[in-house]
Amino acid sequence: MSEDNTRCGYAAILGAPNAGKSTLVNGLVGTKVSIVSPKVQTTRFRVLGIMMEGATQVILVDTPGIFTPKARIERAMVAAAWEGANDADVICLLVDAKTGWNDDARAIGLRLKSVGLQAVLVLNKVDLVRKEKLLGLATEINSLGIFTDTYMISALSGDGVAELGRDLAARMPEGPLLFPEDQVSDLPQRLLAAEITREKAFLQLHQELPYALAVDTETWEDREDGSVRIDQILYIERESQKSMVVGKGGHQIKSIGEAARLELEGLLERRVHLFLHVKVRGDWTEKRGFYSGIGLDFDA
Ligand code: GDP
Ligand code: MG
Repeated sequence: MSEDNTRCGYAAILGAPNAGKSTLVNGLVGTKVSIVSPKVQTTRFRVLGIMMEGATQVILVDTPGIFTPKARIERAMVAAAWEGANDADVICLLVDAKTGWNDDARAIGLRLKSVGLQAVLVLNKVDLVRKEKLLGLATEINSLGIFTDTYMISALSGDGVAELGRDLAARMPEGPLLFPEDQVSDLPQRLLAAEITREKAFLQLHQELPYALAVDTETWEDREDGSVRIDQILYIERESQKSMVVGKGGHQIKSIGEAARLELEGLLERRVHLFLHVKVRGDWTEKRGFYSGIGLDFDA
C-alpha cells in the first residue's frame, strides 16, 4: 500500500464501567483484543485495538472505566484513561442506553466539556431499550452541547457497528500506517494470554476478587510440533484466598485453566498446554514495578 493514500489516527472509546467499550473494540477490530466481563473494571490498562477500513487504520484506545479514583491503582487507571482521550483524533462517549445518562456517564461528559473537547455520542445496548426511550435519551444527552454526532448501536449483536467504524475511519488524518496492516493489537501475546486467564478467573470466581488477583505469563515455549507451552502465575494477596482459587481437589483452577486454554487455542490457532500456578504476593497494588509493567503511572 503506498503511503500517499493512507490515513491513520486514534479513536478513544470512553464510557462508564460496563458501557460495552471492550465489546465495541472487539467488534470493530473483528476479533477479541480486549477482555469483556459483566463485572466492572476488568480493563486495567490501555489496550489498543487496531482496525483497518480500506486504506485507513484506526487505533482504538480501550480505556479503563473512568470513575472517581480513591486507591492508588484507581488513580493510575483514571490518569491513563484521560491520557488516551487527549491524544485521540476522535473521542467516542459510549453510553449504556439501558442504564441511561447516569452519574458516571455524565461525569465524563462534563469533564470533556470543561476541557473543551468534542465527542461522538454512541448509545449502546439498543437491543435492550425501546425506540421512544432511545430518542428521548439522545435528546437529553445532546443538550450538553459537546456532541457532533449520535450513533445508536448494539456492540453485542453488531448492529450499527460497521457504520460507526466507517465513520471513525473517515475522521482519521492522512498519514502513514503506524502498525502493519494485519496487526490487531499492540498487546504482546503473553500479556493477552494473561488477560484471558484473568478474565476466566473473574467469570468463574463468584466471590469478588476485584484487585486481589493478578496474572503473569512466566514462560512461553514454542514447541517443535507447533504447539505452545504457557506457564502462568496467579498472584493473590492472602493465603486465605488460595482455597477459593484452587477449589476442592484443584477443581476450580482446573476449570479456569480449561476455559482459558480453549480460548487461547482459538486465538492462536494452535494447540496450547497451559499450566497455572497460584502464589501469594502480598499487596501488589502498592508495588511500583507492577504499574510500569502494564503501562500505568504509579505516581498518578
Ligand atoms: P466495558 O466495561 O465498558 O468494557 O464493558 P464490556 O464490553 O466489558 O461489557 C459489559 C457487559 O455488557 C458485558 O456483559 C457485555 O456482554 C454487555 N454488553 C456490551 N454491549 C452490549 C449490547 O450491545 N447489548 C447487550 N445486551 N449487552 C451488551
Ligand atoms: Mg472493558
